[in-house]
Amino acid sequence: MKRHLSFVFLLICALQLSALAQKTVLDPQALLRDVQVLSADSMAGRLSGTEGNRMAQEYIEKRFSEIGLQPYNNSYRHTFRLESRGVVVEEAVNLIGFIPGKTDKAIVLTAHYDHVGERKGEIYNGADDNASGVGALLAAAAYFKKNKPYYTLIFAALDGEELGLQGANAFLENPPIALDLIQLNVNMDMLSLNEKGELYASGAYHYPALLPLLQQVKPRPQARLLTGHDRPEQGKNDWTRQSDHYQFHKRQIPFIYFGVEDHPHYHKPTDIYENINPTFYPDAAALVIDFVQLLNKKRPSLRATDSVTES
Ligand SMILES: [Zn+2]
Repeated sequence: MKRHLSFVFLLICALQLSALAQKTVLDPQALLRDVQVLSADSMAGRLSGTEGNRMAQEYIEKRFSEIGLQPYNNSYRHTFRLESRGVVVEEAVNLIGFIPGKTDKAIVLTAHYDHVGERKGEIYNGADDNASGVGALLAAAAYFKKNKPYYTLIFAALDGEELGLQGANAFLENPPIALDLIQLNVNMDMLSLNEKGELYASGAYHYPALLPLLQQVKPRPQARLLTGHDRPEQGKNDWTRQSDHYQFHKRQIPFIYFGVEDHPHYHKPTDIYENINPTFYPDAAALVIDFVQLLNKKRPSLRATDSVTES
């Protein structure tokens, strides 16, 4: 009898553990390590065309390979000539890998890995902007590698965002799949720092079919999802044009952009690993994964019915 009771006790423990395991969608330590590596002084702010940027490419390539993403045409590297704002980079590089779903219809997850480099001898490490987005991109890749998605998921670490959304433009000019297969762009840019525990999902104003889904994303202990920052009357608080997702929006491809409100470290040398929030950030990244998982379950029709109004 005693043995029987302890068996029941163990069974209950096991069930509780499995409930916990279901909620854990990422490894916080791996997430934080990715940000720490990408925002290290050795990468010198990852400006497009520099040695530090090249080191970041190699790190992301290694992580794509470890996670087991599939390349298109045997390589994660998609090179392009970048010419913008008086800067020319002969070989800028997007890193692209994918996880096949049960359909060819795809969701493109993006995060730019470049930043602004060095100015007046000071390194702009870009831990929040946007090592944090790349960390979340890698965490989502690791999650969906183990949890087969309905949609084909394309993971793109983009170059040249800081020079005018150039990597996203190159991706769409020379896409790995037909553009009309892309249902949605999920862009991540600055996810690791907010004192109120708030992560914004921006874009549902333009693509209202996504609003109910965003509202179903349950809060996590340290981070909750809000919607907004996407209305033209909000002026500079309208984020529609402010990161890579705008290149998708311009081409009538729906987007949701995940990010935090501006903070004192934005585009400052103090945007360093030590200043990100190590409890908010993993939960913020998990909210993005929760949203993509909901998309895979609910499969809203996004492209047939939506008309886009230029903001
Ligand atoms: Zn950024």
